[in-house]
Amino acid sequence: MTPPAPLPRPALLARLREARRWDLAVIGGGATGLGVALDAAARGFAVVLVDSHDFAQGTSSRATKLVHGGVRYLAQGNIGLVREALQERAAVLANAPHLAQRLAFVMPSYRLWETGFYGAGLKAYDALAGRRGLGPTELLGPGRVKELLPGVQPRGLAGGVRYWDGQFDDARLALALARTAASKGALLLNHCAATALRRDAGQIVGLVVQDRLSGESFALQAGCVINATGVWVDAVRALDGEPGAPPRKPIVAPSQGVHLVVDRAFSPGQHALMVPKTADGRVLFAVPWLGKTILGTTDTPRDDVVREPRPFAEEIGFILNEAGRYLARAPQRSDVLSAWVGLRPLVKPDDDDGDNTKALSREHTVLVGHSGLVTVTGGKWTTYRAMAEDVLDRAMARGLLERRRGGVTEHLPLVGAAPGRPLTEAPGEHLYGSEAATLRTLPGATNWLWRANDSGHGGIGSGLSEAMVRFAARYEMAQAVDDVLARRSRLLFLDAREAQRVAPAVATVLREELGSSFDSATSLREFAALAQGYASLP
Ligand SMILES: Cc1cc2nc3c(=O)[nH]c(=O)nc-3n(C[C@H](O)[C@H](O)[C@H](O)COP(=O)(O)OP(=O)(O)OC[C@H]3O[C@@H](n4cnc5c(N)ncnc54)[C@H](O)[C@@H]3O)c2cc1C
Repeated sequence: MTPPAPLPRPALLARLREARRWDLAVIGGGATGLGVALDAAARGFAVVLVDSHDFAQGTSSRATKLVHGGVRYLAQGNIGLVREALQERAAVLANAPHLAQRLAFVMPSYRLWETGFYGAGLKAYDALAGRRGLGPTELLGPGRVKELLPGVQPRGLAGGVRYWDGQFDDARLALALARTAASKGALLLNHCAATALRRDAGQIVGLVVQDRLSGESFALQAGCVINATGVWVDAVRALDGEPGAPPRKPIVAPSQGVHLVVDRAFSPGQHALMVPKTADGRVLFAVPWLGKTILGTTDTPRDDVVREPRPFAEEIGFILNEAGRYLARAPQRSDVLSAWVGLRPLVKPDDDDGDNTKALSREHTVLVGHSGLVTVTGGKWTTYRAMAEDVLDRAMARGLLERRRGGVTEHLPLVGAAPGRPLTEAPGEHLYGSEAATLRTLPGATNWLWRANDSGHGGIGSGLSEAMVRFAARYEMAQAVDDVLARRSRLLFLDAREAQRVAPAVATVLREELGSSFDSATSLREFAALAQGYASLP
């Protein structure tokens, strides 16, 4: 196994300074932009990608962590969408088995008819998956439901249904996409914002990007520019216009989804709990993930697009109340270890009045402007690869890119791909897949900054080691305490107070690795403010 290639920032910035023309420039390093960059690089295009913050710092690190076909879209009769997602689910699981795995879900029923009703729908889901199915749907009696979901509310339990979908570590999958694209020759930079679009005779010919750490700006030439900035696409579309032209109509209506993380004791075992219809008609999950349980989510429209959205008090109340109805031990506010929020980039139909997010499209949208700017938004994490193919097809159809055959990423293993331990277990060395061997050679491999207390599932190698911080700086482009504790390790998402506790030790190691370019005091101050938000509830 060849050790991974280091990605030192000075060398990446030097490549940005080269006078050259890129075939493709991607703005945004979430699931969508990284998927596009990887697909294009794998087809041999010269690709550059920038993210103003960190890879997956936006919505792509805040998903419910499900690699799924979207059972509820089936209920809406959207067969095509479900079939495509099931196909993509299989590709994600096959290409990154250390970061994405199958997971069994149990839907408990408290009314007899529910078991048969939902069971029939889920058998149709199996049929659509065909040979890509992950396991058969089964109708369960109440005893079996209690066995599989030891934390379930037993009072009035009539039975349930077990079905299979997938789960993943979203931020680490994003990093694997970035590093795989880099291994194919793409240049990717985090903490580097697109600040202007370059035009010639009304057509986009490149962009200006600014390194947010040094302040240096770079004018890049590119044959095709992709705006893959998620809920921020309208801000980039606003850069694309003649001076003095009227502002463009926004296409994104943000809607926020809150997740609360609690101890695994509330829902022990290896199964996720799924409630298809809560009191207000939403779906609620209790998902075992990296040694904890994720409860969520909500769907609350908002009219601002903020970097660190916070939950509204009603959303916390809603999740805790609903979880309390289905779990034997109801979680309280004081049990919440971390609360985080993601913004859905829902695309507005033309005549939408902007306040009913449930009526908006959850499929992705690709727009090609008169200037040639390609904007992509919407969709879901699971389908990032299909979205990327679609974006490149559109760019080729418009003559912005040379025609080259697709289908190159469906069977392309991502960096680190190797069979891993279940993602329900505490985080540790197993998340590094085939790179765990390199990790163990770094200084501090047995110096644990945080040890996972994971009810006996993790054992040796679980937690956050000093070597993992070094790995993050050398190979995973981490530049800040937040980059390490929110996305290379997921400790901020799992237990915000523990993340606060280990932050100074992380900063010390980053300083050793990154040298004087790393401003330890600022990074720690910013992280403390961030973690405070995850640790406290409104
Ligand atoms: C609560 C919630 C739960 C979800 N759960 C699931 C799930 O379980 N499974 C699933 O498949 N999908 C799920 N999704 C959907 C999925 O997370 C999103 O569809 C996906 O992450 C969107 O990725 P993106 O790259 O389009 O956007 P983002 O991840 O937001 O990426 C956009 C990036 O653009 C960058 N950017 C913005 N402006 C600039 C600029 N000027 N210059 C450079 N960079 C810029 C940002 O920093 C950001 O990193 C969920 C979504 C939400 C909100």
